[in-house]
This record gives sequence, C-alpha cells and structure tokens, in this order.
Amino acid sequence: MIIGTVLRSHAGGYLVYQSDLGQDFMCTARGRLKKENVTILAGDKVELADLKPELGKAHIASRLDRKNELSRPPLANIDQVIVVQAIHQPEWHPLWCDRYLIHFQLELPDASFVLCFNKSDLADEKDTEALRLIYENLGYELVIVSAYTGTGLDKLKQHLSGKFSILAGPSGVGKSSLLNALKPGLNLKTGIMENDYGVGRHTTTASEIYRVSINEDPLITWIGDTPGFGLSELTHSQPEKIAPLFPEIGKLAANCKYADCLHIVEQDCNVLGNLGEISKERYHSYMALVEEAKEKQKLEQSRTTKREGKVKFVGGKNESAKKIPRLKKQYRENSRRRTKQKLEIE
Ligand code: GDP
Ligand code: ZN
Repeated sequence: MIIGTVLRSHAGGYLVYQSDLGQDFMCTARGRLKKENVTILAGDKVELADLKPELGKAHIASRLDRKNELSRPPLANIDQVIVVQAIHQPEWHPLWCDRYLIHFQLELPDASFVLCFNKSDLADEKDTEALRLIYENLGYELVIVSAYTGTGLDKLKQHLSGKFSILAGPSGVGKSSLLNALKPGLNLKTGIMENDYGVGRHTTTASEIYRVSINEDPLITWIGDTPGFGLSELTHSQPEKIAPLFPEIGKLAANCKYADCLHIVEQDCNVLGNLGEISKERYHSYMALVEEAKEKQKLEQSRTTKREGKVKFVGGKNESAKKIPRLKKQYRENSRRRTKQKLEIE
C-alpha cells in the first residue's frame, strides 16, 4: 500500500505528499469515496493508486483511520499543539493563555502540548522568569522564543521534529512570523508561497499543512497554522471538565466532599480550603472558564428543551410502535401517575 499525507485541498482535488518518493501529487478522490461521504482533510493519511510520478498525478483510493480530528480549522491527525502567546504586544494575558490551553486540551485530549511565548526581544528576565514560575511548575513544556532574533528557535524545533503540530493562539502573537522563521521562503502574510513547485501561488483560506525540514533532520515535520479565535469559539459547555485540566486544582479536588464539586462556592471544598496553594491568576482563569461554561450549558439546554411533538408513539418500541396524533392538553386524561398522586394528596 502506498500511503501519502494530504497537505491541502486543491481545485477540486488534493495535494498529497508521498515520503518514499519525496514527491507531491495532485490527486483526485475515487468516486466511491464521494459516494460514501468519506471526507478528506489536510493531515489525513490516504492510500494512493495509479501513481504517475512523471506527471505528479495520482488517485486517492481510500482514507486511513484518523487518530483525531479538529473542526476549526479542519485538520486530522494532530500530534501536538503549540499554544503561542506574546509576552508583550499584545500583552500576555493569563486568562486568554489558559483559555487556549483548555480549549485545545478539550478538543484534542490525546495531543501533547507546548506553551510558546514569543517576542522575547521585548521582554526582560523578570517577565520570562514569572512565566516559567507559573507554567513550568505546573508541568507544562515551555519555550521562550523570538521570531525576530531567533532566540529559542532551536528548542522549539526540537519539540516540532518528526511530529505534526499546529500553532494556536490569538492573532498578532507572531504565529506566521514563527512559521516563516522555521520555513524560510514561505511568506504567509502575502499569501504567496515560493514553494516546492517553483512558482508562487495564492494560499487559500482552507486549512493547509506545511512540511518543514529542520536542520537535515531525517524526520518529516509538519506544521499547521490556526486562525485567531473569538471568545465564543473557545467556550465549552461542560464546566465539570475544566478542573481536571488545571493540574493544581485537579490535585486538590480529589479531597472535596462532593464528587460534582466545581470548587467555586461549595461547602467542604478542598480547593477553596487551600486557595493559598494556587496562583491568583490561575484560579481567576479557572473561575472565569467555569462561569462561561455554565452560561453556555444553560443556553444549550434552553435550546434543546424541545416543544412537544405533534404525534406520539404507542404500542411498543421500534417497528411495532404506531404514530398517533397527540391530543391538545385540555382533551387529555390525566396520566396514571398524576391520578395516583392526586389520590394520595386527598
Ligand atoms: P500572527 O497573527 O500570530 O500570525 O502574528 P504575525 O506573525 O503576523 O505577527 C504580528 C506582529 O508581531 C507583526 O508585526 C510581526 O512583525 C510582529 N512580531 C512577530 N514576531 C515577533 C518577535 O519575535 N518580536 C517582535 N518584537 N515582534 C514580532
Ligand atoms: Zn471542590
């Protein structure tokens, strides 16, 4: 089986890289895949057929199973998320930093995570030490870099080597600049890529992944860039899932009295009892994320409280059930339970 990696969709087809041949192929998917609604995303591994290396063309015969999948941007098989933040310009904001971390940890629980702080040329020792103190102590991998001066890029490259990573973070923090520093010749800002096909071309808004060769490293490294996100796109609706993603809170939560404790107002909460052990900023982030999640949960619940259907099913489950029109409330008999309750009260 000849396997390739999908780089991006391209004019109704796909651009696929085949590593043994070291070549990109313009591919169309076999009709069967379309019929079966098999989607193909950048990052997908696909089986190639009818290869014509001299023309750079091939067919996609099938798509291999995905290890994971991200909806925004649509990408598959992500190994690692590099959460990129600027130390200054824009000013580092603990809540936004934690928001990005939590969002991607929820979306891609099996990925590994690196926190990358860019624009170190604008920062002093004190700034970077403060960041290390917070995040390294929590067990996060941390790299302090400057796309301008090249500081820290070697360490970042070590993290990237041989994996498919995405750079995720707000706009303006320097994600494109970092990509450009890692892969010279790629100019994301103008949308033109002086690429391996010799000609510049316009990049599209569809997701795309880039092959980055790093210092003669025999391993192939892939990078995808994510767009900036708005608050609503980073908000989830399960408040109880957040505490385990804050290691310092998750650790204390084991000794809370109630299993569903959200560590905000509850009694006998071991987190609230030991707030001194958690940094103020981190607990503030936690509270804000839980409140947002609760709001979103409420909103979703109010949307899904369905209106009563016009028909109801009687006479057993599945096929044996019959659909009959539902009577208007005033014509209905009380349910057996209602009648019984009424009798008990009287
Ligand atoms: P993106 O929106 O995250 O892709 O960010 P860009 O790569 O477009 O960078 C945003 C701005 O920050 C641009 O004006 C860059 O020139 C600037 N910038 C990027 N990296 C650095 C850096 O390491 N140091 C400084 N001082 N500025 C940077
Ligand atoms: Zn608690």
